[in-house]
Amino acid sequence: MTPLEILKTQFGYDSFRTGQAEVIDDIMQQKGVLAIMPTGGGKSLCYQIPALLQDGITLVVSPLISLMKDQVDALNENGIPATFINSSLDYQAINDRFNQAAAKAVKLLYVSPERLDSDYLARLEQLPISLVAIDEAHCISQWGHDFRPSYLNLTNAIEQLPSQPTIVALTATATPKVAQDIMSRLDIEQEVKTGFSRPNLAFKVVKDQDNDKFLVDYLKENPDQSGIVYASTRKEVERLTKLLQRKHVSATMYHGGLNQEERRQNQEDFLYDRTPVMVATNAFGMGIDKSNVRFVIHAQVPGSLESYYQEAGRAGRDGLPSEAILLFRLSDVQIQHFLIDQSERDEANKQREYDKLQAMSQYANTQECLQKYILNYFGEDGEACGQCSNCLDDREAIDITVDVQKVLSCVIRMNQRFGKNLVAQVLTGSNVARVKQLHFDELSTYGIMKQASQKSVAELIDFLTAAGYLFADGGQYPVLRVTELGGEVLHGNQQVFRKVAIRATKALPVNSELFEAL
Ligand code: ADP
Repeated sequence: MTPLEILKTQFGYDSFRTGQAEVIDDIMQQKGVLAIMPTGGGKSLCYQIPALLQDGITLVVSPLISLMKDQVDALNENGIPATFINSSLDYQAINDRFNQAAAKAVKLLYVSPERLDSDYLARLEQLPISLVAIDEAHCISQWGHDFRPSYLNLTNAIEQLPSQPTIVALTATATPKVAQDIMSRLDIEQEVKTGFSRPNLAFKVVKDQDNDKFLVDYLKENPDQSGIVYASTRKEVERLTKLLQRKHVSATMYHGGLNQEERRQNQEDFLYDRTPVMVATNAFGMGIDKSNVRFVIHAQVPGSLESYYQEAGRAGRDGLPSEAILLFRLSDVQIQHFLIDQSERDEANKQREYDKLQAMSQYANTQECLQKYILNYFGEDGEACGQCSNCLDDREAIDITVDVQKVLSCVIRMNQRFGKNLVAQVLTGSNVARVKQLHFDELSTYGIMKQASQKSVAELIDFLTAAGYLFADGGQYPVLRVTELGGEVLHGNQQVFRKVAIRATKALPVNSELFEAL
């Protein structure tokens, strides 16, 4: 049988989706391949079809125990012999399943990566494994957003398999760097990547608003529509759920602190449309296949664009117009920054996390098309989408390069040792005692923005920080430093545009010379 015949007879589909035939082809020619396809793109069939065409067993490494069972159940329903081995089973059951596999009574064997340690490995070595499929393969890379140490042992484990199986690695999110890392670790040479763009998703960034009010208003304006609200902590999930319920919005919640029964119940209420709105931490969503999610709102900014795109991408799987909204506050980024700073990670690891957070923050502050920004981040070209909040923002972008140079040079003249408020005070020529004590009133940048309010200069500093021209270092009292990108602006190599100009407290003084010239 050909792959297409299997697709039709075993799975009941007429044609392949983009990329599927290519990946299957590579596998059938025993070439290792990395498949990067968006969520819902049909990655599973890429290894399930070869599994049926090949003589041996396909070993599927999958990180989520709950998903494993669903997949195996679905395969069994289609009459395909498959089973799984994980920590939810007792010794006897594990033994039975290994024996089944050894007797070639299954075509697909699912295992979790943690199980590929020595006691399982000895048994796996005796199986005729012809293909290893590694799901969520970005977990193998420290550059990825969900690195799992247990994935690192995979390479060793696979190398020890005497049958020398072909390897297929699959993921929905990989920057070019992560893709490179996966391929070199697993010694894979082929890559199949299908388009990331999600034309039915309208991306929006909402900045510095009252989040609670925005949420309540939005949900009231979109009644009965199914959607997910992501918050960053369990406490915040509980608070938002209560708030929505008080405002008569039908909402349920999901986070790791609920017991298993509550989680199951709430998840089902959402999946079967009994409760339209799910408020959740990022523990919710992997493997959830609900097609009619109309919006995904992030009440706090996630730590990376990879996580954001994966979570936002849960909207609109049915292809109908849907929204992905990020509620952005710089203070949320600073909290995340602080948490990375305080974590046990080594320096290199911290730096990678900072970089990912910075890209996320830049997304919220770019003037470019949001969809295009995301595609570029994942190494793809794209056209402006015409429907994101930036494409629809018809205010004129104003060249603010000179103002930015003033701010940056002031930060440098203050020796990059002070925070936003003091910098804004110096720029606006404030008379507060601290400015005088530190002799900042003697700087050439003292008062060079005195026509603007201190608040709007502080806002401009926030924008420059989020957009990557300044870096706010430290926890509670962050100190401003000029970044490399900021240096480019100072040297006149880079212009900065912004759709809002900085607000003056009073009208600019009329330029009398100009009047006379007229
Ligand atoms: P992924 O793992 O990439 O997120 P899945 O493998 O779970 O996606 O596939 C998503 C859905 O698309 C599943 O319901 C699957 O049966 C369906 N699907 C996969 N390939 C095809 C195809 N060629 N034609 C129609 N439906 C498909």
